[in-house]
Amino acid sequence: MATATASVGSATKNGVRRELFKSPVFDEVGLPRDSDNLYLQTVDTMLTAAEMLELPHEVQIILAQPKNEIMVHFPVRMDDGTFKLFKGYRVQHNNSLGPYKGGIRFHPDVHLDDVKSLALLMTMKTSLVRIPFGGGKGGVKCDPHALSRNELMRVSRRFIAAISHAIGPDYDIPAPDVGTNAQVMAWFADTYESLTDSNRNSWDAMRVVTGKPVEIGGSLGREKATGQGVVDTLVEIAPELGIKVEGMRFSVIGYGNVGSWTARILGRMGAKLVAVLDHTGAIREDKGIDTEELAGHVAKHGGVGGFGSATKVSTEEFYRTKVDVLVPAALEQMIKEQEAGWIDAKVIAEGANAPTTPAGDRVFNERGIEIIPAILANAGGVTVSYFEWVQNKSCVTWDAEEVDQALNRHMVMAARRTKLMRQRFNCDMRTAAYIAALENIGKVYAVRGIFP
Ligand code: NAD
Repeated sequence: MATATASVGSATKNGVRRELFKSPVFDEVGLPRDSDNLYLQTVDTMLTAAEMLELPHEVQIILAQPKNEIMVHFPVRMDDGTFKLFKGYRVQHNNSLGPYKGGIRFHPDVHLDDVKSLALLMTMKTSLVRIPFGGGKGGVKCDPHALSRNELMRVSRRFIAAISHAIGPDYDIPAPDVGTNAQVMAWFADTYESLTDSNRNSWDAMRVVTGKPVEIGGSLGREKATGQGVVDTLVEIAPELGIKVEGMRFSVIGYGNVGSWTARILGRMGAKLVAVLDHTGAIREDKGIDTEELAGHVAKHGGVGGFGSATKVSTEEFYRTKVDVLVPAALEQMIKEQEAGWIDAKVIAEGANAPTTPAGDRVFNERGIEIIPAILANAGGVTVSYFEWVQNKSCVTWDAEEVDQALNRHMVMAARRTKLMRQRFNCDMRTAAYIAALENIGKVYAVRGIFP
């Protein structure tokens, strides 16, 4: 077990950097101190904010661990007739505000601690945007690209069957994440509905997941929602950081759902995409990249590599490209100390979850680079998921304009809450967003109390 790295700081208060893992709660709940562990980093950020807010101690210890950690193993028949055993997780972090809510990831690197971290982030996110959901997350350790469509369907159905006793339309509501999509949600919903005693109420059982295809109750606007939310937040915050969205230069890491939608919406608003990095390489074009054409290229070729007349550049050259805003929208922990030192941007708008390590945070703090944290910037996806759930529950459908307007209201209010806390506590935006989220959860515990 590694010990705390004293030189790696996280949040700042009054400009003074604090060290990692200072909270006594780590010892009390039996958590180790390991500065490379994503879950421990996330708990540390949460506890730092909790201490500044003077959140009651009992709420701090409750939030330091998830309520439930479910781990399952299940066999799936492959196309060649052999069977493979898969491992899946569902972590239910907190449901004091409403049913557990969070995506399910299919990826070879899914690990329990990462899922726990993402579940805690969901609790913070739903509270910050004030939707009546708690936080959860799940995953299956697999490479969805190496599975045939039928194998993917069987993995999806067997996984949801294995956790069907632990989820429900008013208890725990999964959604898509990296490696899953609307089709996988349709298989999830169909399997859950078939297995539950809901023959006369089948449509209501479909509410167990969001991010469904529109044909079976999905919401208009869900596909672009996270990117739209990144843009809504940026528009609200950019002016006071001295940035005008129209005409600004930006770069993106990842051109999947979040990265491509963020880029396309910003492109339509007159911002200029100058560099993109994804798993197939990095491209740069100072005159600006056509965001729609790039989306078409990625749909056809699987990545940005080989796009049009853009110049192929190295990863380091990508990071060193001068921009106003950089949008990380790929995987966790990509921006470490070195990348943070290379980056030439005024603002980082975190489309991905936890893309910046605490060491990266410290470099950004020192260099005066602002971060719009993930729990604020990428909360648009779960917000429109909530709209989908409300539409299903009340048997109505909203048009696209209604969805966009309601999303914008939630994002703008969440951004304002964050700015307010930033002023009140004189801290960085990440800590401020956590404080705004925790204040809401603290109030709920204060009125509900803790059973018995
Ligand atoms: P996606 O699978 O659609 O896209 C992932 C992107 O990451 C791809 O463009 C891929 O090329 C890129 N990528 C993968 N490995 C890479 C590497 N080593 N270097 C550079 N790029 C790499 O996933 P998504 O749904 O867009 O999610 C991206 C991030 O946003 C994740 O952190 C996810 O948890 C978060 N997020 C997604 C949503 C949503 O609604 N989809 C909501 C909130 C947060």
